[in-house]
Amino acid sequence: AGRHRVAVIGGGSAGISVAARLRRAGVTDITLVEPSDTHWYQPLWTLVGGGQASLRSTRRSEASVIPDGVRWIRRHALAVDPDARTVTLSGGDELAYEHLVMAPGLQLDWDAVPGLAKAVGHDRVSSNYAPEYAPRTWDLIKRMRSGTAVFTHPATPLKCGGAPQKIAYLAADYWRKQKVLDRIRIILVLPDPTLFKVPEWARTLEQVTARYGIEVRLRSEMTAVDGDRREVVLTDHANGTEETVHYDLLHAVPPQSAPDWVKDSPLADPANPLGFVAADKHTLQHPQYPNVFALGDVANLPTSKTGAAVRKQAPVVAANLLDAMKGKTPTRRYDGYTSCPLVTARDRMLLAEFDYDLKPSPTFPLINTFKERRDMWVFKRYVLPPVYWHGMLTGRL
Ligand code: FAD
Repeated sequence: AGRHRVAVIGGGSAGISVAARLRRAGVTDITLVEPSDTHWYQPLWTLVGGGQASLRSTRRSEASVIPDGVRWIRRHALAVDPDARTVTLSGGDELAYEHLVMAPGLQLDWDAVPGLAKAVGHDRVSSNYAPEYAPRTWDLIKRMRSGTAVFTHPATPLKCGGAPQKIAYLAADYWRKQKVLDRIRIILVLPDPTLFKVPEWARTLEQVTARYGIEVRLRSEMTAVDGDRREVVLTDHANGTEETVHYDLLHAVPPQSAPDWVKDSPLADPANPLGFVAADKHTLQHPQYPNVFALGDVANLPTSKTGAAVRKQAPVVAANLLDAMKGKTPTRRYDGYTSCPLVTARDRMLLAEFDYDLKPSPTFPLINTFKERRDMWVFKRYVLPPVYWHGMLTGRL
């Protein structure tokens, strides 16, 4: 086969949104490399773990979300050579491209915490970060009547920075309603010095953790798990101490990084130890290879990795790629918009939306989103999923 006009690596939120927009703009000869036959709506996994959504409702067949007219190659990308403009695929074939969109998401590094890979999925350890475990989180929460529950947050960048704490609030609210909250010790472990990067929302979250009696360990990290003994090691980076805590439930969020093949490629940002792809933070174009764009979780951008960020990045990549195809300098700019729907109770949510400057940038300027709201919970549970499937993935929104 000859050189394809556009190759898109990854058919997740980012890859499908961009492919759909390019198709709408009339681009032909788009090839999508995606190994999985399943497309997931990951933002609902928090509610799956909290017993408020079914796992089934978060999945669709990959075939059903691929835009008409896009060629699907069901393989893994294994390597990219941006000088030769080729991608090596599993099975050995090479795909030659003129323009490349990098959107393979990120990698969950279960092995980066000793004991975690072995314990997760057993021994009362779960994680909403993988669909095979998220339903188990709810089983563990439901069964718990007393003891210690530990919720962790890795020290690396992660997708949806709020997810590690949201599940703690959903669990605590459930235990409160079951009248067992005072028999359960809840420990929330966070690497940052505050509960949230933007002070406006950090203050509200302080009230939320106090309301549930959650013990918050700031500047701390889970550094080992012993599933057989049900023990977790928590390292406090502020004073360099380690504590071994016995748990009855552990919700673990693994460290995260770029997929290994991306780390090893010339597209990785040399300034980033985790190997995320270099991209201009406004145009999303690769600084050395102007025919390459990156977005979504794989891109090294100084903002939180979320689907909401992808929604704002996809139109920028599509427009700038069209310019690049015409030999023009890209002009569309992404401002770092991201959003974190912080579920704080079984019927309440804080919608935190901000940009590169951590400046709040609300979609609904007339609504006070610094306080917990029921309408925002309804928005996340019932409005956002159809908006995702029918608006974002089709390139309409
Ligand atoms: P993904 O959607 O993960 O897609 C990556 C795709 O690349 C996948 O289809 C994968 O199969 C494919 N791929 C992998 N390796 C290869 C390869 N070698 N070759 C080709 N293809 C490959 N975001 C929000 O906005 N709000 C939320 O409330 C929210 N909550 C979340 C809660 C949880 C528990 C999790 C896990 C995530 C949450 N997110 C949330 C984050 C959001 O899901 C991601 O930021 C978003 O999916 C990123 O899109 P992406 O296309 O970059 O990656």
